[in-house]
Amino acid sequence: MQNETETNRITVAENAGFCFGVRRAADMIAKEIAFAGSSGERIFTLGKLIHNSSYISELESEGVRVTDTGSLEKLASGASAGSPVKVFVRAHGMTLDTERLLISLSERYPFFGFADCTCPFVKKIHRIAENAPSGDRDIFILFGDAAHPECVGILSRYPGKSFVFETAKEIEEAAGSGELPTGPEITVTAAAQTTQKASEWKKSSEILEKLYTKINFFDTICYVTEKRQKEAAELASKCDCIVVIGGQDSSNTAKLFSVCCEICPDTVMVEKADDIAGKIPLNCRRAGIVAGASTPDRIIEEVYKTMSEEIKAENESFEELLDSACKTLNTGDTVTGTVIAVNDQEIKLDLGAKVTGILTAEQTTDDVSVKLSSEFRVGDKIDVFVISVSDIDGCARVSKKRADLDKNWHRIVDAKENSEILEGTVTEAVKGGVVIKIFGARVFVPASQTTVPKDGDLSVLVGQTVRFKVIEVKSGGGKGAVGSIRAAASEERRALEKQFWSEIEVGKYYDGVVRGMTEYGAFIDLGGVDGMLHKKEMSWKPIRKPADILNIGDPIRVFVRSYDPEKRQISLGYRTEESRPWNKLKASFAEGDVIDVTVSSIMSYGAFAHVTDEIDGLIHISQLALKRVDNVSDVLSVGQTVTVKIIKIDDEQQRVSLSIKAVLEDEAGEADTAEDTGDDGDAKEDISEDNA
Ligand code: SF4
Repeated sequence: MQNETETNRITVAENAGFCFGVRRAADMIAKEIAFAGSSGERIFTLGKLIHNSSYISELESEGVRVTDTGSLEKLASGASAGSPVKVFVRAHGMTLDTERLLISLSERYPFFGFADCTCPFVKKIHRIAENAPSGDRDIFILFGDAAHPECVGILSRYPGKSFVFETAKEIEEAAGSGELPTGPEITVTAAAQTTQKASEWKKSSEILEKLYTKINFFDTICYVTEKRQKEAAELASKCDCIVVIGGQDSSNTAKLFSVCCEICPDTVMVEKADDIAGKIPLNCRRAGIVAGASTPDRIIEEVYKTMSEEIKAENESFEELLDSACKTLNTGDTVTGTVIAVNDQEIKLDLGAKVTGILTAEQTTDDVSVKLSSEFRVGDKIDVFVISVSDIDGCARVSKKRADLDKNWHRIVDAKENSEILEGTVTEAVKGGVVIKIFGARVFVPASQTTVPKDGDLSVLVGQTVRFKVIEVKSGGGKGAVGSIRAAASEERRALEKQFWSEIEVGKYYDGVVRGMTEYGAFIDLGGVDGMLHKKEMSWKPIRKPADILNIGDPIRVFVRSYDPEKRQISLGYRTEESRPWNKLKASFAEGDVIDVTVSSIMSYGAFAHVTDEIDGLIHISQLALKRVDNVSDVLSVGQTVTVKIIKIDDEQQRVSLSIKAVLEDEAGEADTAEDTGDDGDAKEDISEDNA
């Protein structure tokens, strides 16, 4: 058990009090009571709504009466426009006959109605019983208390032969005596009453598995019950005394009592705070509280306080408890609560008042990934806003989100007054705009104030963190704010522009992006300000239009050629002297270099060949070979690669003269020299061999 209240040596089990099914029923009837006040409606429960006499007394004080199946016909026929009747079916459920009767009465009498508060977990067992095979060789075994209304309701839905057992021993005995038919031909459907003891059900299942080969088990023990029993056992093992709170006729409370008694002999069962007197052992160093599923939070709180008084807790004075018990909570109050229990669905808070604060996950945070049990610990203080207070179930519905909003609202108001730019996440696209969540508040941004074009898809913004300005606030009860992403964007753009113009200088380089193009040039975004790059500045080669070499969105490094801050004009350059083809060639080659070139065209006076990608050199006809050549095409063809020597780089004319003949002459000269000196490979080898 991780999340439990531990104050003054008293620990309250995490899942003490109303379970999901009972809280659902209590909420349904509380809503009806509020409605009935103005409509004259009479409310009845079919049997006691829950097994807790003090809660039932409170309902009675609100005019809610308990009825039974035999009185339904009379109630329905007596219902009228001025005095309609509504019957609530409790969480345990009802028999099939009663259900049919209620349906028939509500069809026959227009001012009679009923609400089925049967817990969905119980309804699931109803469906199992209704759909189980029910032939001559089929039986239905229910593990539970035969007299309990839940079991009666379940068995009424099985048309075949059924058996009820409450212990594994009972099953063994019934099988031994022949009361329970066994044998390979029998098909069994087995389920358990939701509040049965899990350990006993396990034992019983093992026996049934030995008795039958054809058996369908449905593990229908409510997880709430199972969890509570485990928690109770764990708590009992740590405490000197356990107080189990619940009605005397509550099945699940009786099970909790039995679980605790087995481990902690000083276990007592009480229904309300008054029953505690004198039951806590004098030498109790640590006490625990567990409570049945039909125990209102208010009663747990009262028992807790009474116990605190009894064991004279060191850290909390009697006067403080007295004060807090008297404190009255009102809807709309903001109070600080202390976490007394937490699970992933809700947090229970001690609000220092008669009622217990219920803070659901939904009222805690908008972030569905947050696990309450990881974020909050018993003893944590949380500021909450009181949404509603119900003395009937002893709870106050509270909201942390609303308290946070109230606390942070001034930040939204200040942001508007100071024209501050805020940053928040777009959480949803709604009709006509998007919503940004910030400081717990929802800021609406109309579509026209986003950066999405008219009629564009606003959902693209969902999940994005955006900067915005608050342009309108509505304070008071229904707080609201209107924001503008565009206003923030244009303000930031203006600030960037101002800074840009203060830092610009001729020759300064910028990493820009091509933002738009015309026939004569391209607009380059330099970071909030655009400059113009004329097409003649783009390349050393003539280009027809900018789109021949650039695309919108291309990154480009440019420099400022000139600018006019008055006219907000910037002329940009891209090509540089270093990138000029002639300069590049000169940086790479020198006269006398021997290089391979590719012939690009044949003329009558010679051939041109690529020296670089941009510049061709000329191999004059006289430079094609050692001997005279009459036709260039006799020795060269376009595309052919030849080795040439650069014989002249004419800076003034920007021409390059190449020669094949010069290469051949050099080779011939080297050959002659080698012959004259006898310097060839073989000779060297011979000499070296001789030397060796
Ligand atoms: S104990 Fe389980 S089955 Fe019974 S009412 Fe509560 S939630 Fe439903």
